[in-house]
Amino acid sequence: MSTSKKVLVVGAGIGGLGAGAALAQRGFETDIVEIKPAPDVYGVGINQPGNSLRALDRIGVLDEVLAVGFQFDGWDFHDADGNLVAPVRTRLGDDRVPPNNGLSRRDLHDILIRAADRAGARTTYGLTVDEIRCDADAAHVRFSDGREDDYDVVAAFDGVKSVHRERLFEGRHRQAYTGFVIWRVTIPRPADVVRGAVFQSVGEKAGYIPLSQEHMYLFNVTPEDRSVRVDKADAPRLLRERLHSFGGPVAEIRDALTDDDDVVYSPLYEVMLPAPWWVDRVVICGDAAHACAPHLTQGAAMALEDAVVLADELSRDVSVHEALDAFTVRRYPRAKLVNDASRAILDAEMAVTPETLPMALEGMRAHLAENMGHIDDVLRQPA
Ligand SMILES: Cc1cc2nc3c(=O)[nH]c(=O)nc-3n(C[C@H](O)[C@H](O)[C@H](O)COP(=O)(O)OP(=O)(O)OC[C@H]3O[C@@H](n4cnc5c(N)ncnc54)[C@H](O)[C@@H]3O)c2cc1C
Repeated sequence: MSTSKKVLVVGAGIGGLGAGAALAQRGFETDIVEIKPAPDVYGVGINQPGNSLRALDRIGVLDEVLAVGFQFDGWDFHDADGNLVAPVRTRLGDDRVPPNNGLSRRDLHDILIRAADRAGARTTYGLTVDEIRCDADAAHVRFSDGREDDYDVVAAFDGVKSVHRERLFEGRHRQAYTGFVIWRVTIPRPADVVRGAVFQSVGEKAGYIPLSQEHMYLFNVTPEDRSVRVDKADAPRLLRERLHSFGGPVAEIRDALTDDDDVVYSPLYEVMLPAPWWVDRVVICGDAAHACAPHLTQGAAMALEDAVVLADELSRDVSVHEALDAFTVRRYPRAKLVNDASRAILDAEMAVTPETLPMALEGMRAHLAENMGHIDDVLRQPA
């Protein structure tokens, strides 16, 4: 194994922290720079499916994420009134990892920050990269505080609105607004909520994911004009209005929401960077390369898989270009599958009209478990 490389990771999100930990654990001198002045993650939850847990296991934090999370075996799909249509059991578990683990984003972040620190990665907040010049010897980096340093590789995990993707590919591959947003709020978990649940209405869907013994989060995906801006104070009322078509368990939750609830409103963007994801010594990873709709709960999973595969490939005794090429070859098809499938699910769910609703529910009943199983079977394979 070559341990001589020095790597700069841009972005201390889930992928960047995971990469910082994975690279430093393999002996690379690793710096992480994060533009935010301090760690700051909004307080909702996230599901980590089995393939993501395998990546977290490679970073050595599986026990920690399982200890704070809620393990569950899959998803129950319902109509808008809560009648069960299709139970779907996730096929991503094995004797080491459960099929799914819901947890708070803050907990996941804290665990990854500690892992990167423990491994020896140096993280600096309130700092970004102003310029990168590459030649045969190094990537020469100028930081926003005026300092300069040289690296063998720069890995940009700077999120869906990536400045580095913009710079490297001269604006040719911008993120696109999907036309849909997601509303999320953390609420108490009733004892009988032991797996994810989805409720299909006309042109929108709602659902919830268990996060811990105490909490779960409710989500609602709705079509919204891109110009809609939402004041934090108005979000609980707007969410209650959006949920008016639901009966059953979603209606019970809706009716218990108050104006004090912390509702998070997020427009959904996507991007799929064509291969190769690198130029010279700079590689684009995580959401910056392949942000997807959240419908398979696979975005962070893909970013964490990128992190461990990048560390694997850079550990080989090959040139930087060969390593970055091998990285893209391993990652592109998997990320593309997740992007395409997530978008197809989003489109199918949002296209449901009063006339097509019975057919849509019948299609779910007949095919959903099998279709989701096919995707799981691919994602069960090593990243
Ligand atoms: C509504 C929703 C629900 C989701 N649910 C799930 C789920 O259940 N399971 C799942 O696996 N995934 C889920 N995802 C996807 C997941 O959140 C992302 O895929 C994941 O956060 C990507 O990690 P990342 O590190 O690539 O990017 P990010 O987490 O976005 O991190 C990017 C970091 O880079 C920093 N940064 C940006 N620009 C710069 C710069 N110029 N210099 C330095 N730093 C910079 C940012 O401040 C940020 O900290 C969901 C996404 C959404 C929108």
